[in-house]
Amino acid sequence: MERVNKELDRLCEKDTIAQVTQPTEWLSNMLVREKPDGRIRICTDPSRTVNKAIRRPVYTIPTIEEKLPFLTSAKVFTVVDVSEAFHNIELDYESSLLTTFQGPNGRYRYKRMPFGMSSGPEEYQRRQQEFLEGLDGVINIADDICVLGWGNTKEQANIDHDKNLIALLDNCKEQDLRLTVKKMQFKSTTVTFMGHKLTDQGICPDPGKLGFLRYKWMSRMKLLVGYFVTGSIKRKLREEITLYEGVLLKTHQVIVPTVLRKEMLEKIHKFHQGADSSIRRAREALFWPGMSANIRQMSEACGICAQFQTEQPREPMKSHEIPKLPWSRISVDLFQLADKNYLVMKKNFARHGIPSECVSDNGPQFDSSEYRSFARECGFTPVKSSPYSQGNGKAESAVKVAKNILKKSGNEDPYLALLAYRNTPQQGYVYSPSEILMARKLKDIIPMVPSQLKPRLVDSKIVREDIMKRRIQSKIQYDKKASRPLKDLAVDDHVYVKPRQKYKP
Ligand SMILES: [Zn+2]
Repeated sequence: MERVNKELDRLCEKDTIAQVTQPTEWLSNMLVREKPDGRIRICTDPSRTVNKAIRRPVYTIPTIEEKLPFLTSAKVFTVVDVSEAFHNIELDYESSLLTTFQGPNGRYRYKRMPFGMSSGPEEYQRRQQEFLEGLDGVINIADDICVLGWGNTKEQANIDHDKNLIALLDNCKEQDLRLTVKKMQFKSTTVTFMGHKLTDQGICPDPGKLGFLRYKWMSRMKLLVGYFVTGSIKRKLREEITLYEGVLLKTHQVIVPTVLRKEMLEKIHKFHQGADSSIRRAREALFWPGMSANIRQMSEACGICAQFQTEQPREPMKSHEIPKLPWSRISVDLFQLADKNYLVMKKNFARHGIPSECVSDNGPQFDSSEYRSFARECGFTPVKSSPYSQGNGKAESAVKVAKNILKKSGNEDPYLALLAYRNTPQQGYVYSPSEILMARKLKDIIPMVPSQLKPRLVDSKIVREDIMKRRIQSKIQYDKKASRPLKDLAVDDHVYVKPRQKYKP
């Protein structure tokens, strides 16, 4: 709260906002965002208030294609952008009162155009266009400005460029507009501008490079902004996309360039998890427009995926109470107990700790004195599932999952498939099995940003809710199937017989 007040004071000092004491017609909510560098940013959410009343100016933001003819044959370039672009638009007193928002200790109004006003982008572009009109060799899209230099020789182009840049700077000074030169893009023979490479040899899009993606995103944003949504969405999209060590991220997802998508699709599909699971797993790490549709297409065209599609293990009907802690109740099955000395159990206890309860079926092995003394030694309670309930469903369905993974993996490494399974949230679940058990995602063959691999707190309330929801859903489905009684057969009825499944190697 102290930091919020400090930031409000700073904005007052900068003359961006001012305190309001009189009653106002509109009052927006204040939003506080933390920037990656730890500083905070204050903005407002006018989408529910004054934006509804603003008649938006009709001004289509130009795309770079419209500007391309101006760019050919230029020889030297500088790219600058306007710092805090929107705040350069001064509001008159009346308009300013419309932007009133509630702070912790009082109300404030913007004296300059705040982010999120629905008329902001067009208004800004229109003004900037007006302001740049009459300046030679300067083009702008949104808040990016490019200064160009033409000439028959390099010297001439340099002189032309300097003249144009000085004219722009003079103009900015007059209008109190602050510019920042984009990193290393000063008086250069090649620059990146709106996803295009501008060079003294001509212009080319930058396919597969970040610039190109950024350009695509920008034009997409512009499409959204220009035609049907408010400026706050543009701001959101822009804030969502960040650069991390040369890779573009959409929040935490790596934005995959076109040239790498095929390879990523193959990695995602490698373990034949079926369309929905594959999409869930991919979404944990990757993004590109149309990714889900691409994954679905690939799964639908795949024989192995089709074969296993309907064989999802069903949840056990008679369910145990949901444990309060991860790994506090585990289920064991003979599948795990092939080794007499409970080695598999011991190995897992060494990794995850000893559970409180261990559920098993009624097999004689679990009645042995050896098992009982093992339980005593470790300090867990052996629990036997009732033979009248669905039995030891949890362990049995886990065995089914494991067997399916083995069958599907063919020549591939089943352990990598198991890893993919553990990294994929099940349908309707927020967290993957690995997150539920270990509070972290596991690094697998799909690239993931390191920050995604940091352990994070798992909200146990969400986990329990997800389990509950899943149980309710499978119960509904189970009952639906069970409640349809079969019609009695009459003589001469046609009967269809489902063929017995053949052995599949
Ligand atoms: Zn497949």
